[in-house]
Amino acid sequence: MLPIGPEHYMQEHNWEKVRWFGPQEKWGDPCKMRVDLIMYMDALRHYLGHPIHVNSGWRETGDRHPSGGAMDGYIQGVCLIDQFLLLERYPDHDKILGLGLYPHWNTPGVHIDMVKPGRWLAYTECIGKDEQGKPIYKQKYTALSWESIKKYCL
Ligand SMILES: [Zn+2]
Repeated sequence: MLPIGPEHYMQEHNWEKVRWFGPQEKWGDPCKMRVDLIMYMDALRHYLGHPIHVNSGWRETGDRHPSGGAMDGYIQGVCLIDQFLLLERYPDHDKILGLGLYPHWNTPGVHIDMVKPGRWLAYTECIGKDEQGKPIYKQKYTALSWESIKKYCL
């Protein structure tokens, strides 16, 4: 990965140039988000004409989010398969390296990153029951494919 200096992270003057997102959204820490990701998301949002809800941006844990080059969210009013198709049809889509689908979220959505290549689908599996007899679910991952889309998203 390329070395990234402080100028590659969103500062106040960078946020002023963003049309469709703001630092008050759930980025974790808006100053730790990478400029290239936010500018990409802003251009994508403009192109799509649909609001994009931010669930999460920078965070300490995971292998992609701590760099500030990843976000989780959803395109409002669009089912997950259509979110995926809109992202893949966007002319500049090859700038997205990592893309994950999350059909089990309250509002199904996507992970997008500029950190490293990967395509996956997340799902949950019951791994037992707690003391009250409630099922315990663990998030798991599988390759994004027509088979996994049919199994978990349709
Ligand atoms: Zn994520």
